[in-house]
This record gives sequence, structure tokens and C-alpha cells, in this order.
Amino acid sequence: MAPEIEIYDTTLRDGSQGLGVSFSVADKLKIAERLDAFGVHYIEGGWPGSNPKDIEFFDQARLRRFTRAKLAAFGSTRRKDIRAAADDQLRLLVDAGTPVITIFGKTWLLHVREVLQTTPEENLAMIEDTVRYLKQQDRLVVYDAEHAFDGYTDDPEYALATWKAAERGGADLVVLCDTNGGSVPADIAGITRAAHAVLGIRIGIHTHDDIGLGVANALAAIEAGATHVQGTINGYGERVGNCNLTTLIPNLEFKLKKRSVPSESLLLLKEVSQFLDEIANVRPNARLPWVGSAAFSHKGGTHVNAVQKLVRSYEHIDPSLVGNSRQVLISELAGRSNIIMKARELGFDVTKDTPELNAMLARVKALEHEGYEFEAADGSLALLIRRTLKEEPTPFRVDAYHVSMRSEGATSVCEATVKVRVGHEHAHTVADGDGPVNALDCALRSALVRFYPHLEAVRLTDYKVRIVNSAVGTAARTRVLIESSDGLTSWTTIGVNENIIEASLQALVDSLEYGLLKKEFTASVV
Ligand SMILES: [Zn+2]
Repeated sequence: MAPEIEIYDTTLRDGSQGLGVSFSVADKLKIAERLDAFGVHYIEGGWPGSNPKDIEFFDQARLRRFTRAKLAAFGSTRRKDIRAAADDQLRLLVDAGTPVITIFGKTWLLHVREVLQTTPEENLAMIEDTVRYLKQQDRLVVYDAEHAFDGYTDDPEYALATWKAAERGGADLVVLCDTNGGSVPADIAGITRAAHAVLGIRIGIHTHDDIGLGVANALAAIEAGATHVQGTINGYGERVGNCNLTTLIPNLEFKLKKRSVPSESLLLLKEVSQFLDEIANVRPNARLPWVGSAAFSHKGGTHVNAVQKLVRSYEHIDPSLVGNSRQVLISELAGRSNIIMKARELGFDVTKDTPELNAMLARVKALEHEGYEFEAADGSLALLIRRTLKEEPTPFRVDAYHVSMRSEGATSVCEATVKVRVGHEHAHTVADGDGPVNALDCALRSALVRFYPHLEAVRLTDYKVRIVNSAVGTAARTRVLIESSDGLTSWTTIGVNENIIEASLQALVDSLEYGLLKKEFTASVV
């Protein structure tokens, strides 16, 4: 079935200009394959005229088969005062061998005069010639009208003339670009309607999120007649980013009821978002609409209670429709419902009739008051629930420890000694480390692996420190969050104390204890 709205992904070109985003050729190929499987209609691979990496990408991409998406190469109109056929940049574009070529040209007279330093007439000729030349090479040609909205606002007649020049040259689409990202939906809609009224070809929209309206502007253009939309996964892009496709696509599907990617692909939306963050090595944004980990989280007690009774009461849509899931956050706002849902999520058979429930809730609230934060520390929360339910001795105890640091010339050495008790046995170990926490971790681990060899696989993967001031008049406290992994799953534990080493030790002890008891939790998942 033909889409009503075509999705043109420019993550690999516009998105790669985002802060902290850099893709290797191998990354780009992996992403292109994933986007093709997801079902976008076009994948803009790069600008062969701007860097050799993009030329190599197209050389390799040519050898692969894309089943759903058409690959597009990006470039600009010919240089002024030469023939299109004599322009090196255009030759590179054609050589990229893609079925689609996208070129951008100038709409705004300010740019024509000041940036290109040419006449309005030559700019029109540059657009028309370039499009015609590329059509002669038998490609689908997308014309990106740079600064379409600023240009139109400045001089509507000239802006329309540039778009008509693209149409005369044979362009398949004119895409109106809000290059500076400063337009508002009403203007976007009005100008898109004006273009729609005079052009006989299809219209697309390309927006940036500079004032937080990237997606809203794209939707405004679509409602005004655009049938093609350009954007990036997770909104990657220069400055604050591009129109975010992981927001736009579900809005089209569920809110505007317009068909874009195949409906079944919506279930993969969160996965695609995570995949991109992983490859780009970008920390996932929990607050991204639809796909963020906080998008369907519930914290306040009354909300959670209502959600339990009727999910529709506090959720605009079922999170599983976009591959996301409901999350219950534990905090001092938590009510009994939060604890029950969280405990069940962690594998405990807790109901509203469980006698220990009130004790758990009181313990969570008391600790949160001291500066603990359990919403990000599943591991420690699971241990807290378990300790309240079962009066069992812990698998090990730290009886004493000592940490010291000395400086030797340019290097400093940290040393930790730990005395650990397991049942009736004792272990006393010493270890060096890069820092005090690392030394403590090494000492503790080497003491415990004698008793629990499978702890060998547990690794500390992240360590975060924050200063919290709980009650007025007390010393500042340090909150330490430790993320650990055994290669299969990961968990987070927490420690809070005035002393950073003590806080770290608490989090380390919880991390290893959770690592030991993890099997028990996962085995009893209800
Ligand atoms: Zn852009």
C-alpha cells in the first residue's frame, strides 16, 4: 500500500552534524540497513562532495540491496556561471550511483546576493539547470529549498520563482526547508499552502527544532498539503537538532491517522531509537516523547493507583504500541500501589494484603528523606524488599576496611584492605586501584570470589556521584549510584553518606549482593 506521507530520513547526513554524533562508514551502513528494515522511504546517506567518508559509504552501499528504502545522495546546485555538466560536485553526486539525488538551492535573496554573490536570475538558472541535468541522468530528483520560509517572508514572489524553476527543470519534489528553525506552525502552514497552490508537483517539509517546534512545524506543513517529510531518528542534528522522526512517525500514525512507515514497524520504534543512541554513543534521553524511558513512567501515588485500575486514565496511548513499556517509579511520593507494582516487576509476590507492605513503604520513605533515590536503583530496592520479606542473614558482611592514598612522583597509588565474613569464615584482602573506590572494589571482589566464583563475571560499568543536601543544618551528603553488569543484565545500586568512600562501599556491597541473589529474583518473576 502506498504511503500517504513519505518519510525521508537524513540521520546519516543532517543528523551526523549533531553535537557529539560521529558515524564511521561501517556505522552508517549498519544504520542504513536498520532504517531500511524499519521501512522509511528514503535514506539520505551523505554529501559525496563534502567528504571522502561519504564517497566510501556510497561505494559500499551500492553493493547492498535495500528492499524498502531508496538511497539518496545530497549536494548543492551547480556553481554560478558554469554548465551543470562541468561541475565537479555534481559529477560526484551522479557517481554516487543512488536512485535519488537531493540538491539544495537558495530561496532567500539575502543569501543569493550576500552568500552566493550572484544575481537573482543566475540563481534561478542554477536551480533549473541542475535539476534538468540530474533528471537527464535518470534519477528521482528532490529539490530542497533552503531558507524557504525566511525567503518567502522576505520576498514571496522571488521565493515562488525559485520553486517554479525547480519544477520546470523536472524536479519530482520541492521540499520547503526551515533551515534556521525559527518559524512557527501558522507561518509554515500558510507558506506551504501558498506553494501548494502554484506548484503542480509534490511538496515536502524539512524542519529544525531550534525553538522546540520541529515536529509541530512538520505536522503543520503536512496538514497544509505536504506529503513528504524529512527528519532524523531521535532528532539528531545541528544545534538543537532536526524534526524528530521518533516523535513524528507515531504522531502521524496514532494522532493524525495518516499512513507512513508500515504499521507493524511502530512496534520497533523504541528499538530503533535505542539502536541509534548506541551506535552514536549518545546517552538516551529519558524524556523523549513516545520512546524515552520516562515516557510512560508513573511516580505519584494517586496516578499509580489509577493506572493500576484503568491504564487509560493517565496514559495517552498503550506504550507497547511503540515498543515502550510502563514504568513505576519509586520515591517518597510513592504509595502502596507503586511498591506493589515495582515489587512484582522485580519478581516478588507482593499484594495489597502482604503484611510487610507498610514496613517497606516506611523504609523507602525514610531512606528517600535521607537522600536515597530508589527510582534509579532497582538493585538496592530489590534488596530492601527482600530484606523486609525474609529474615535471612546476608551472604557476606564487611567487618572492617581501610583505604589509603599516597603519591609517588607523578603517580598516585590507592590501596584498600577489607575484612569480610562469609558464614563462619573470614577473608582479609589487600588491593591497589586507580582510585580509592576502584581499590575498594578490587579488594572486596578478591575476598568474595573465593566463596562465590561467579562474581568474577560482575563488572562495575558506571559510577555516578551527586551531592545531596537532605535536611537543613546537616552536612552535605554524597549519593553514589553504581551500575553493574554480569554480561547478561545490568542493575543499579545506591549508597548515601557524608563520606564518599562510605557511600561508595554501600553501593558496592549492594551491587555484589544483588549479583549473588539475582538468580533468585529472576527465577521467581511472576
Ligand atoms: Zn537541515
